[in-house]
Amino acid sequence: MATQFSNTTELHDDKLTPYSQLAAKPQIKSDVLIRLATFLQTSLDYQTLLGIFQKEIASTVLIDGLVYENSDLNIQFTLGTLGVHSSNYQLKAQGSYLGDLTFFRSTRFREHELANLEALMGTLVYPLRNAIRYRSALDQAFKDPLTGAGNRIALNENLNREIELSKRLNYDLSVLMIDLDHFKSINDGYGHLSGDEVLKAVVNQIKKCIRQTDICFRYGGEEFVVLLNNANIANARLIAERIRMTVSDLCISTEKGLLQVTLSTGLAMLKEDDSSNGLLSRADAALYQAKQSGRNKVCVCKESHAVTAQ
Ligand code: GH3
Ligand code: MG
Ligand code: MG
Repeated sequence: MATQFSNTTELHDDKLTPYSQLAAKPQIKSDVLIRLATFLQTSLDYQTLLGIFQKEIASTVLIDGLVYENSDLNIQFTLGTLGVHSSNYQLKAQGSYLGDLTFFRSTRFREHELANLEALMGTLVYPLRNAIRYRSALDQAFKDPLTGAGNRIALNENLNREIELSKRLNYDLSVLMIDLDHFKSINDGYGHLSGDEVLKAVVNQIKKCIRQTDICFRYGGEEFVVLLNNANIANARLIAERIRMTVSDLCISTEKGLLQVTLSTGLAMLKEDDSSNGLLSRADAALYQAKQSGRNKVCVCKESHAVTAQ
């Protein structure tokens, strides 16, 4: 199987021999390669694999740290410390992109060390490919395939974790329950496929309005839940309003022409004795209030009653 390294070696030293003139051949003890290959078979977790790799190659090439990036999977993983000298590799296996790996060191890399590093990476490529596939399958299992938002399983997992963290670390946790207004009439008027386009566009818009640490989930057909950690009611209300306004300003292009959509939002903040069901049902009660009081608005659930925010 062909393994392709696209290497750009970036060394911050003017006196270095250009890479093209390097003629070093890898010199690696066979027991190091065998041990490395064996250990790399033991995990499907990319972080563990990179940890094993760094540790096992230390007798051949000592590195201070590494950064692994994979834009497809939204991964940026750092191990160890970052020195001023670096060597970067784009990893590919049979044409498929596996990510970028950069090694760092406080002293410059010698030619024979780079040759060794590349040879050692030959052992890493396929275990890493398997780990990436596994990670990607896990990601898909927690995603709504239409919109790319988290699905119900992901919501349950994340909500329970966030509730536990917010209680332990004593930060506020707020939840938005969002439902598109009169969505049935969009489907009826423009067709189901156009309806799907609207759902995708709305999720994109929601994601643009929230922080990276906030997460958007598809709760049901045209209902979404957004978890806002470290956000009290005032913070969450600002975000909910931002979502409401940007979505209502949006002109969505569909097969049957441009259309606009509005949404209603219920907001609730975690209470001391709250459960995930309690929190969601209070957000749902606030959403009901938003629908009842005219739609295209945000309502806040304060304790047991909902208050209209707009
Ligand atoms: P309201 O303002 O009260 O929420 O009215 P609504 O029309 O949005 O609510 P209703 O519950 O009557 O209709 C929801 C619609 O969402 C009906 C269903 O066909 C549609 N829907 C659910 N899932 C999907 C989907 O995946 N794609 C599309 N296109 N439509 C969907
Ligand atoms: Mg609706
Ligand atoms: Mg609904």
